[in-house]
Amino acid sequence: MDNWQRDLDQLKGQGMLRLLRVVDGGQGSKVQVNGHDVLLLCSNNYLGIADHPALVEKMIAATKRYGAGSGASRLISGTMPPHAELEERIALFKGTGAALLFNSGYAANTGILQGLYGPDDVIFSDELNHASIIDGCKLARARTVVYPHCDYVALAGLMEREKPRRKGRWLIVTDGVFSMDGDVGPLPELCDLKDQFDALLMVDDAHGTGVSGENGRGTGESLGCLDRIDLHMGTLGKALGCAGAYLAADQVIIDTLINRSRSFIFSTSLPPGVPAAASAALDLVDSEEGRVLRRKLEENRAFFAGLLKDGGMDLLGSTTQIVPVLTRDPGPTMKMTERLLEKGIFLQGVRPPTVGTGLCRLRATVMASHSEAELTDAVGKILDVYGEYAE
Ligand code: PMP
Repeated sequence: MDNWQRDLDQLKGQGMLRLLRVVDGGQGSKVQVNGHDVLLLCSNNYLGIADHPALVEKMIAATKRYGAGSGASRLISGTMPPHAELEERIALFKGTGAALLFNSGYAANTGILQGLYGPDDVIFSDELNHASIIDGCKLARARTVVYPHCDYVALAGLMEREKPRRKGRWLIVTDGVFSMDGDVGPLPELCDLKDQFDALLMVDDAHGTGVSGENGRGTGESLGCLDRIDLHMGTLGKALGCAGAYLAADQVIIDTLINRSRSFIFSTSLPPGVPAAASAALDLVDSEEGRVLRRKLEENRAFFAGLLKDGGMDLLGSTTQIVPVLTRDPGPTMKMTERLLEKGIFLQGVRPPTVGTGLCRLRATVMASHSEAELTDAVGKILDVYGEYAE
């Protein structure tokens, strides 16, 4: 055989082997792992609406009407009404001329960057951007200039340096909320830079959409610059509780992607039940119930992070519902993760290559559906296990 087993054994020896776990139950605050109830502290179902009756009923109704599958890519067998209605809804939600659905956030980022940019262009990308952005830059075959995390002063210097050899389009791309650190991109400053250097700004707001800002419009809303962002990418599988992703932007950008983006053109579109449920999720985000859920999520986040900080943990500058606890090395990190699961707390230990060497962490995500008692219990157990295994 081609030595894959040897490579896997090597990963195992280094404490780096990844394994899947079967988890029973919806994405509520409690799920079952190996027949035991555990607290779910690693789901992106931030508002707790993945199993909301309004979403489930819309999904069932659309599935009954249109079937379980969409049949083909939209350029082949056409667009079903739930997809078209959701795109209109997303464009209104983000305040853009148009929007386009993709089958996942990964497919969106790779398809957007590949569809809009090419070898004459330059993409300026934050060093902690999501893997799908990194892969999108590679697919675009654009020159990619990686700037230090959130360092807009360094970015300005890099843009100045690139200026004399400029040939094509320029893009600045950043996560709104960074998926592993839970901190927030400096969007107003990046807007100033893109104006100054005649570039566009793309924000991947996978973790901000539905959550951040007074109306859940995302990180741009919370930082007061929503209408200055050119390319609003977001996902439907996190706070919105469904699956898939979108780009909201000017019509000409959307038309270009319909013609050029390979992950859009060559892939069967989402099952119709999914966009139907996502439209219901956006209704919910816009409702009083949505406001209450956002408030509860923020209270939970502040409570959980506050207790961990009081316990002396390094949360790596997180200001959002993504709360990393720095543990540094892979061995102890994975032992802590296992031990926490035995104690009924399900979260993820994160290792390289997802994060840098020496930056392993326990990554917890808080949901509106957690109770204070559950979060207090989780922090107690995290501090105990940290005390047991940290080197
Ligand atoms: N962007 C960011 C910032 C993410 O965290 C993720 C998923 N974790 C994605 C994109 C990919 O989204 P999806 O899971 O829908 O493929």
